[in-house]
Amino acid sequence: MATDGSVLEVSLSAVVANWRKLCSLHPGAVAGVVKADAYGLGAVHVAPALHAAGCRHFFTAQFDEAMAIRALVPGAMVAALNGPPPDAEYEYLANDVTPVLGSLAAIDRWTTQARSLGRTLPVILHVDTGMHRLGLPPAEISVLADDPGRLDGLTLLYVMTHLVSAELPDDPQNAHQLARFAAACARLPPAPRSIANSSGIFLGPAFASDLARPGAALYGINPTPHAENPMRPVARLLAPVLQIRDVPADETVGYNATWRAARPSRIATAAIGYADGWLRAHSNRGHARFDGAPVPLVGRVSMDLCTYDVTDHPRIVPGDRLELLGPAFGPDAAAEVAGTNGYEILTFMGMRIARVYVA
Ligand SMILES: *Cc1c(COP(=O)(O)O)cnc(C)c1O
Repeated sequence: MATDGSVLEVSLSAVVANWRKLCSLHPGAVAGVVKADAYGLGAVHVAPALHAAGCRHFFTAQFDEAMAIRALVPGAMVAALNGPPPDAEYEYLANDVTPVLGSLAAIDRWTTQARSLGRTLPVILHVDTGMHRLGLPPAEISVLADDPGRLDGLTLLYVMTHLVSAELPDDPQNAHQLARFAAACARLPPAPRSIANSSGIFLGPAFASDLARPGAALYGINPTPHAENPMRPVARLLAPVLQIRDVPADETVGYNATWRAARPSRIATAAIGYADGWLRAHSNRGHARFDGAPVPLVGRVSMDLCTYDVTDHPRIVPGDRLELLGPAFGPDAAAEVAGTNGYEILTFMGMRIARVYVA
C-alpha cells in the first residue's frame, strides 16, 4: 500500500554537496554531526553517504546513536558528545566509540582503564569556554596543568570546545571563547583542536581548527542567518490531502473554531499534525506550497491533521500532496512562522513520517 501519511524526501547528494562545500571553506578536516538521527533525516542513511564522500569523523550525542552508525562507517572516528557514563569503558572500547571526556572524574576513570589494560586509549577532551553545559571547567583545567600525569595513558585525539553564539558574527562572546580555549590548550599537552560548529566555519580563519563539527549546515539550515543561505536545500516534506470539503461562509474549521470562513470556502485536510512534529504553533499561520503557490493553513493544527484553505486552488484534489518544506520554503522559514529555529523543525519530524531517499 502506498503510504497514507506524510513523506520527508531527503536528498543525500545535497547533504554530501553541503559537506564538500564546508570542506572547501574550512582548512582543517570536517566531521559530520549526526546526532538526533542526523537532525531527523536518518543517520543510518546520512552517515554512510558522508563516509563514501570521504568523511572520517562522526559525532553523535549518545552512545546508542554512535552504535547505530558504527558498522556503517568503517575506519572512521565515531564519538559521542555527551560523554561516557561511569562503567561504560568496556562498551566504548569494545565497539570503537570514542569517548568525549568533560570532567576530571571521567578522565580518572579512563586513565585507570588504560593502566589496567596496559595500553593508551584514544579520547577527546571537551573544554568548557563559556557554554557552561558540558566540558572541563577552568578549575579542572588548572588541576590538569598542575598534574600532567593525570592524563597518562590517554591519547588526545582532539581537544574541543563549543561556541555559544557562532551564528552571531558580531557577538564578542566568539572571540572571548577563542581566547579562553587558546589559554586552556596552552596548559594541556599539545593536541589537535576542534572548535567550529556549522556557523563557526563562517566566522573566518581565526575559528578554523584541525576538525570542524557541523551538523545544521549539512542539512540545509542557514549557518549565516544574517545573510543568504549558502547551503543547498536537503529536505522536502509532503503531506497528502485526504479530503476536500465545502465550508459555507461563517462556518468554522477545527478545534475551538479559531478560523471562520469569510466566504464560501474549500478546505483541504492533510495528513500531518503535531504528533508528526508539525508544531501547533503553525495554527492559523504559515503556508504549504502547491505548484509553488502558497496555500494558507487555517484553524488549529491537530494531532494528525492540518486544514488548508484551497478556495483559490481549484486544481487541488484529494491525493495531491502539499509541500510543507521545500527548496523555496526550508526549515528556517518554517521556524520563523512557528517562533523557533530550523533545528527544532527538523529534529521534531516524527517517526510516522516516512523518510524517502532521493538523489
Ligand atoms: C550539536 C553540536 C554541534 C553541531 O552544531 P551545528 O550548529 O548543528 O553545526 C557541534 N558541536 C557540539 C558540541 C554540538 O553539541
